[in-house]
Amino acid sequence: MAQGRVLVIGGGLAGLSATMRLAELGVGVDLVSLVPVKRSHSVCAQGGINSVNALTRQQGDTEWKHFDDTIYGGDFLQHQPPVKEMTDWGPRIIDLMDRLGVPFNRTPEGFRDQRRFGGTLYKRTAFAGATTGQQLLYALDEQVRRYEAEGRVKKWEFWDFLEPVIDDGGHCRGAVCQDLVSMKFHAFPADAVVLATGGCGLVYGRSTMSMVCTGSAVSRAYQAGACYGNGEFIQVHPTAIPGADKLRLMSESARGEGGRVWVPRKPQDPRDPRDIPEAERCYFLEERYPKYGNLVPRDIATREIFDICTTDGLSVEKDRLCVYLDLTHLSREMLDRKLGGILEIYEKFQGVDPRSVPMKIFPAVHYSMGGLWVDYERSPSGGMEEGSLRNQQTSVPGLYAIGECDYQYHGANRLGANSLLSCIFSGLFVAPSLVAATSGSKPEAASSSRLFDAALRRQEQRHESLLARRGGDENPYALHQELGNLMTRVATVVRRNEQLAAAYGEVCDLEARWRRCSLSDTGNWTNQNVVFTKALGDMFPVAKLILKGALLRDECRGAHYKPAFAMPGIAATDPVGKRREAEAWCDRFEENTRTWLKSTIARHGADGHPQISYEDIDTSLIPPRPRLYGLVGGDLIEEVWKERSQKAAGNGAAKAARPEAVGVS
Ligand SMILES: Cc1cc2nc3c(=O)[nH]c(=O)nc-3n(C[C@H](O)[C@H](O)[C@H](O)COP(=O)(O)OP(=O)(O)OC[C@H]3O[C@@H](n4cnc5c(N)ncnc54)[C@H](O)[C@@H]3O)c2cc1C
Repeated sequence: MAQGRVLVIGGGLAGLSATMRLAELGVGVDLVSLVPVKRSHSVCAQGGINSVNALTRQQGDTEWKHFDDTIYGGDFLQHQPPVKEMTDWGPRIIDLMDRLGVPFNRTPEGFRDQRRFGGTLYKRTAFAGATTGQQLLYALDEQVRRYEAEGRVKKWEFWDFLEPVIDDGGHCRGAVCQDLVSMKFHAFPADAVVLATGGCGLVYGRSTMSMVCTGSAVSRAYQAGACYGNGEFIQVHPTAIPGADKLRLMSESARGEGGRVWVPRKPQDPRDPRDIPEAERCYFLEERYPKYGNLVPRDIATREIFDICTTDGLSVEKDRLCVYLDLTHLSREMLDRKLGGILEIYEKFQGVDPRSVPMKIFPAVHYSMGGLWVDYERSPSGGMEEGSLRNQQTSVPGLYAIGECDYQYHGANRLGANSLLSCIFSGLFVAPSLVAATSGSKPEAASSSRLFDAALRRQEQRHESLLARRGGDENPYALHQELGNLMTRVATVVRRNEQLAAAYGEVCDLEARWRRCSLSDTGNWTNQNVVFTKALGDMFPVAKLILKGALLRDECRGAHYKPAFAMPGIAATDPVGKRREAEAWCDRFEENTRTWLKSTIARHGADGHPQISYEDIDTSLIPPRPRLYGLVGGDLIEEVWKERSQKAAGNGAAKAARPEAVGVS
């Protein structure tokens, strides 16, 4: 049995699966979480989890196709070996969760039911009604409780991770956390620290993410020296329910079960939507992308919805941008059985029954594809080498990241239902690497206690100086609202360089104003005011790296869209002109791939600004190709691209054949 102790920060799907596997391998785990682990944001996940399955295999689906869909969906911005490993593990993960008791929906014959999600033509998504995240989380929680009872896991709920403790050699030796009830600080020495702290949606103020998704833990690791990858890639989900307090998701599963997105052809048609005849409705996703229809990937669906409302002026309402998401043609019984959880949410917050009236929805910030940069070791078969110390390790040795807070699996756009897979996969897969980490060199006791004492003092001083601040004229909650409004305005669906540059300056100003915040609660008992103010302070470095990365990336890729660098489709109507434009489009695509197919890597500078560099991407398994999803008018581009690829492959084969031929002669 392995020994040692690992500190896992975060008890969502990623953190719990890592904890379960570590305990199984005999490693002691301290599991720290801001909220009770069963309240982690993963509990909100609705639609399902992806993997190849018996049904899709009958239609010709394979792990490789899931891998290809994920890479294509992510616009080729991911290293391919980790993604391949993840999709290869998909079927095993679903079987495991099934055995752990997740009540996946079943067909009348007793097989696991599947639905379709965006960016694929196969029904790859297993689901438990529309509360899949909750069922997965509770199943893992039960396992972790078992190990807790056996003494292998110790849970620290309502604790805030404040800083990784890093020794003079740059190795992470543990962390300092704070009890959010007594407000006491505690040092956690560990053989390795794993961050599983989820996304950073609160940087945008209102989003579909939970209110604890501040990104504070990741920001603290980043400020302590860990690199951040692809920060500018933030997913805006196409279908959310606008709300004054927060934006609530209307899961992609609604479209996966047959929901249709449309607007009246007549701008702001005042009629009840049910009275508008089919011919007077514009099903714009189905019209523009007949192959994928309402299930084009999220970045595309989001831009199309945004465009139809802003450019075409066809928003359903004049003063509030929205389109219809219509389920009314589907049977009530099926809707209740498969989508009950999300339909109740709509009914509760909008006061309208979506089974009989089309819903009104609009895009909302939802997910961060970027996150802490993590490493991997490639295996001979093109996947990841299990047990390698490098897997999921950040740029700080001994500090690991898994789940939504790493940058590894989703590139420029995440496909729906792939996140739950990447969270559970990275949690399970990192465990053997952590076991290896527990047998590494240990610091001497004296130098270790010097390190931890210094870190504790630093955090105590930061805390006390915040509590002691008097007469400040800034309110942290009002500042947060300003930050959120600014980020939502400039760094979501459409991005423009002049706005991004100006916003960067404004975020720096907000950060300076944050130093003048005074707290309404200066007590030292369950003080949420000080906890939030600290988290807000740590949002600015993340906001800056998002803006800087977006400013520098002069292209359109996945969720990152700058109209100034868009590549419009073919405008010519005559065959010669069309061909010429398709060739020019492919030339430009090749040039753009050479320049921009690389990850943005941000390092926190001593001056508080992100220093940006770029990392080449391992595309050795699937060569990049134009990402058109059967767009009407895009077929000629695809044809030209295919011809070029075949020609290049022919040249490659000829080149490869040459040395042999020389040898023979
Ligand atoms: C509404 C909604 C529905 C979704 N539905 C789906 C879906 O159907 N399918 C899919 O694949 N994806 C879905 N997603 C995405 C998916 O839910 C998340 O990406 C995933 O659950 C993240 O899991 P995680 O384990 O990485 O982090 P989380 O579940 O967010 O857990 C983070 C953990 O870190 C802890 N933590 C955070 N900061 C600190 C700190 N400073 N100190 C201590 N602890 C800290 C928290 O307490 C928590 O325990 C959905 C997302 C949303 C917003």
